[in-house]
Amino acid sequence: MRLFEATAEIATASHNWTRPVGFVPTMGYLHEGHVSLIERARGECATAVVSIFVNPTQFGPNEDFTRYPRDIPRDLDLCEQAGIDVVFAPAAATEIYPAGNRTFVEVEGLGDRWEGASRPGHLRGVATVVSMLFSIVRPDFAYFGEKDYQQLQIVRRLSQDLHLGVEVVGCPTIREPDGLACSSRNIYLSPEDRQRAARVHQALQAVQLALDDGETRAGALQAVMAEIIEATPGARLDYGALVDPATLEPMDEVRSEVRALIAVHLGGVHLIDNAPLMPPGPETRRE
Ligand code: AMP
Repeated sequence: MRLFEATAEIATASHNWTRPVGFVPTMGYLHEGHVSLIERARGECATAVVSIFVNPTQFGPNEDFTRYPRDIPRDLDLCEQAGIDVVFAPAAATEIYPAGNRTFVEVEGLGDRWEGASRPGHLRGVATVVSMLFSIVRPDFAYFGEKDYQQLQIVRRLSQDLHLGVEVVGCPTIREPDGLACSSRNIYLSPEDRQRAARVHQALQAVQLALDDGETRAGALQAVMAEIIEATPGARLDYGALVDPATLEPMDEVRSEVRALIAVHLGGVHLIDNAPLMPPGPETRRE
């Protein structure tokens, strides 16, 4: 496994890699969710590349950039064990933003609501750094988790709009045994809040049950999510919405597959999750 810390060096080396090149961008502190993306890239591509970069531009001024968990030696071991060929871990933020930065990527519409409204500037920071990483690493495939569903849709769109030639592959959310989506930020949760955090996934499951019982009005289904979160001590619902899976626009009525998006503040931690939901019926039921 080769480790690059300098942008100029990896950008030059990337011209000689055996294709297809599969890329997994991360902020490190790797967990099972990351490992699933890494294994997929490893299995499908001749060269598998992971980046580890805690990107300052996707954090708001009052967010957790400085205390975001970091453990590069452990991450490198994990990548090595998983058979990764190349790791790009920029030595400093100046490797990515050498002269400050005056160029930003913004995906109109898709980035306006949900995380866009909840964390101003966050999705612009993500879109910008992903565009930069794509042009440095020049992958054929890039693997992103459905856990960050809005981010996944934004990255798909920017790759298409900017003709980056990267096929963006969405991968299923990996969960803890109690249903909580794996996240590097879960370590911030106190033991009590860690237990309560399972309610986020339960709220999504409750919406599917309500749909199965015949409720299709988005307002009523959102109320199901809100009720479960409001009944959880210390938790505050940031948003709970049923959206079109491609445009992320809110729906009034569930007639075909929708995506349920949820964001919850719990003990100072911003937890997000989502699920594909289907109304019951032989034509629409999956599998
Ligand atoms: P992060 O390091 O949090 O920026 O995440 C890096 C990549 O891993 C993104 O594509 C995330 O969507 C993905 N990811 C994070 N958590 C999970 C999870 N629980 N299951 C699947 N993918 C995940």
